[in-house]
Amino acid sequence: MRRAPTILHLDMDAFYAAAEQAAKPSLRGKPVVVGGIGPRGVVATASYEARVFGVRSAMPTAQARRLCPNAAYLSPRFTLYRQVSDTVMELLRALSPLVEPLSLDEAFVDLEAGGVPAETAAVRAVGERLRRDIKAATGLTGSVGLAGAKMLAKIASEAAKPDGLVVIEPGTERELLGPMPVRTLPGVGPATAETLRRAGIHTVAETAEAGEAELVRLLGKAHGTGLYAMALGQDDRPVVAERDAKSVSVEDTFEVDLTDRTRVRNEVLRLADRCVGRLRAAGRSGRTVVIKVRNYDFSTLTRSETLRGPTDDPTVVREAAVRLLETVDTTGGVRLLGVGVTGLADFTQEDLFAQLATEREAEEQAARGAAEPAEEAAGEPEAGVELPRRWYPGLDVVHEEFGAGWVQGSGLGRVTVRFETPWSAPGRVRTFTVDDPALRPGEPLPLLGRPDQSSAPAIRPKSVSPAGEAESEAGEEISRR
Ligand SMILES: [Mg+2]
Repeated sequence: MRRAPTILHLDMDAFYAAAEQAAKPSLRGKPVVVGGIGPRGVVATASYEARVFGVRSAMPTAQARRLCPNAAYLSPRFTLYRQVSDTVMELLRALSPLVEPLSLDEAFVDLEAGGVPAETAAVRAVGERLRRDIKAATGLTGSVGLAGAKMLAKIASEAAKPDGLVVIEPGTERELLGPMPVRTLPGVGPATAETLRRAGIHTVAETAEAGEAELVRLLGKAHGTGLYAMALGQDDRPVVAERDAKSVSVEDTFEVDLTDRTRVRNEVLRLADRCVGRLRAAGRSGRTVVIKVRNYDFSTLTRSETLRGPTDDPTVVREAAVRLLETVDTTGGVRLLGVGVTGLADFTQEDLFAQLATEREAEEQAARGAAEPAEEAAGEPEAGVELPRRWYPGLDVVHEEFGAGWVQGSGLGRVTVRFETPWSAPGRVRTFTVDDPALRPGEPLPLLGRPDQSSAPAIRPKSVSPAGEAESEAGEEISRR
């Protein structure tokens, strides 16, 4: 525990949804939900306008649709999110060599390791400047928490949301945490919270008052001891830069134990993709794939498989993870799943070329993964008809005559496109047949204005916008990337 709040936690505000609102002027100020759009899809991010209706991350999209039928429901565009994430992570790495990304839009930074004076005024100034720099570089807002421990920095950024900064001064953490619900503490899921509630423990203060012995009696040795330390605000986990790490792993605890075998498998695939995303973000590859399964009764086991050589190929990691899952009995219900890669190596030159070659492939795979729920929807009569051309909502498109736009929806052999760009006014909607030869998938456009110096108006008068010109314009934007 540090004497100054030199651990920074950054979390972008409603990241995917905010990026979509920045990209699509007609959605600004409106409810937007990004996630799986099919019948079994799950919400990835809801804009603040959608949260007012009770829509939350990880909620089934079908439930979100009932709560907020008028929101725009969009498939994720990971290529764009990763571009923005790279910009944000670069700003963080300018602050300190110790940056620990948790996801595309979230990271811990050890400011002390970056030479920032260990004083509240200094770290606060760094945090405020970071927020301004992120806004200037990406057009999006992020919230910053500053504290003397990771757990507290994360609680602080949550309290700062949206678009804010909160400092927890060392020495004040117990007072601050005391009245918070016990669920605020990391590792306290619904089951633990319920056990504690039955023992009359609702808040962090009550958890601390219960004492270590009582918590161990209720929750077992490891969990009880850990929870007691956290209730006192004690957390001395260091910020670990991914390039120094020996492994990269991700895990998820589920609100309800998973019993459906297919669901468990899909979660493992999703975690494998996330894990590879972090591995690649760190420019690493690894040789051993590990899965972790915690059962309904808290028994936890890991299985691992060592590959012939290091990999960062999502397909290889996915397949290994699924093979490992098949050796585990999950019929009683699964509470937590994790996927990791260990035995990390830095890329050799050859690996780097191989990586560039497979980059495109991996992105297509991510897009396919994101579109999976939509594929399930293909069985419905109104869903997409053409298999090779799937106009899922949110997709970037270019029309020979009307220029850049995005798919608002499709069905019954038609696709509706809104023609607007991040730097235009809200645009008009037009409908085409799904096989219209003038319409093709496009690339994500940069969120902050046109990439060139051309002074051409965003929406050209039709008379000066022949098809050929529109096409070459889009071609330029693609080559610039
Ligand atoms: Mg976030």
